[in-house]
Amino acid sequence: VRVEIVAVGTELLLGQIADTNSQHLGQQLAGIGVSCTYHQHVGDNHDRIVLALRTALARTDAVIVCGGLGPTQDDITREAIAEVMNVSLERDGTIVAAIAAMFKSRGRDMPDNNARQGDVPAGATVIPQRRGTAPGLICPVGNKVVYALPGVPYELTEMFARAVAPDLLARQRAAGETAHIQSRVLRTWGASESGLADALGSRFNALEGGTVTIAFLASGIEGLKVRLTARGDDAAATAATLDGEEAVVRAILKDRFGDIVFGVDEQTMETAVAALLLAESHTLGVAESVTGGLIASRLVSVPGASAWFRGGVVSYASDVKGSVLGVPDGPVVSADAAIAMAHGARRVLGSTIGLAVTGVAGPEPQEDQPPGTVFVGLAIGEASQHASLTLPGDRQRVRDYATISALDVLRRALS
Ligand code: ATP
Ligand code: MG
Repeated sequence: VRVEIVAVGTELLLGQIADTNSQHLGQQLAGIGVSCTYHQHVGDNHDRIVLALRTALARTDAVIVCGGLGPTQDDITREAIAEVMNVSLERDGTIVAAIAAMFKSRGRDMPDNNARQGDVPAGATVIPQRRGTAPGLICPVGNKVVYALPGVPYELTEMFARAVAPDLLARQRAAGETAHIQSRVLRTWGASESGLADALGSRFNALEGGTVTIAFLASGIEGLKVRLTARGDDAAATAATLDGEEAVVRAILKDRFGDIVFGVDEQTMETAVAALLLAESHTLGVAESVTGGLIASRLVSVPGASAWFRGGVVSYASDVKGSVLGVPDGPVVSADAAIAMAHGARRVLGSTIGLAVTGVAGPEPQEDQPPGTVFVGLAIGEASQHASLTLPGDRQRVRDYATISALDVLRRALS
């Protein structure tokens, strides 16, 4: 079953309001495994709404039209649907009575205009209102269907979930189509979007036309997401398909980039780090210069962080790196300084692991190093390692990238 959304309202065409209804419906349809193949916008004009509906019905199986069900003269969706169905509108006394009762309960008389909201195309089924006045409609057109929903988002979302989604799923089952859909997101750090697309390109093509799809989503300083979506006959079969595809994709990524997958679905870099620290009964102390506490802040956002997080030192001034952390004299934007900071953090904070960051956020260079130069130091017991990074962007971006990069250095060392 393929669906088209038709959003009605001149204010949408004029850009006076954003079409959040189509956005919401698109997300909901994807979530229940119904494919939405077109969106249209049309103004409050009878002939053009009729044309929009006919166009939609010609190329899809079900049309969701939203807006224009109100009581005013420019609310003409009902009339347009009746024309497309080639039937007349019949006033439904129960609807009018219900609207009148609603006005009465608020101490007002129903304006005559509102009676129009009781007009129903002959042969349509009414979706009763629970939140406003205009009822929705389920209008059969041959073996296809037009669902009419009110434009008010609060009313639309409730009515879609209660009446439209179940009807679409029933149609899908009747058509013998599988409706089980599940997604899984692999979260990565360390590859470029084009690199990912290149690595997974042949897999992407091999899946074409099948029950599994791969999509890439850039999420800025949180890395790149690879979303796998599978369709199947039931939940167990779909999950099994997804497991199989996840293994294939992980192997391809590992082969090309190494250990770039840090989490699945809602897992973040800090929850991944937390799980690894907990599993090996490690405790962590951090020493931050360029990130000024951002690393500590991300870590303590994880519930239960006190089980493994000892604390942090924001050693911003060079002499504080020396006096508090014992960093020897010399350049402070360097691998040696980062490692010394990490050992210092471990000692001062009494943790088994020390993680440290020093670098240049910009906009000015420091110690002849350009903005974006960042060193991460890691001390695990007496052993140490470091990473040198060149990060893009302005001051805030460099600090954000440095934060997640440092956490990633720790994650890789523990995995
Ligand atoms: P009403 O009974 O309020 O007249 P209606 O079904 O006639 O509802 P519209 O008149 O088209 O719907 O829109 C009512 C309000 O809902 C608009 O003023 C707008 O704020 C909001 N709205 C309409 N369409 C959309 C949309 N596509 N996306 C987001 N909001 C919308
Ligand atoms: Mg209206």
